[in-house]
Amino acid sequence: MPSEKAKENKSLTATCVACNKPGSTETMVGLTGRDNGRPKQFTVCIACANKGWRPPGFAGVYTGRPAP
Ligand SMILES: [Zn+2]
Repeated sequence: MPSEKAKENKSLTATCVACNKPGSTETMVGLTGRDNGRPKQFTVCIACANKGWRPPGFAGVYTGRPAP
């Protein structure tokens, strides 16, 4: 199910900050970390998130999603 954010994204593509590969927002997840002390959303592909990549300052819980 597309998130509200994905619906607003006109291009429906995003670039994974971990592996730098572009992909559909449907295959990306947003993980909230910290950048210079401020909350920041990092977009990574599900593959990287499932491999354990987390942004600096990540304090949430990511339970994993099945890769498409
Ligand atoms: Zn990736």
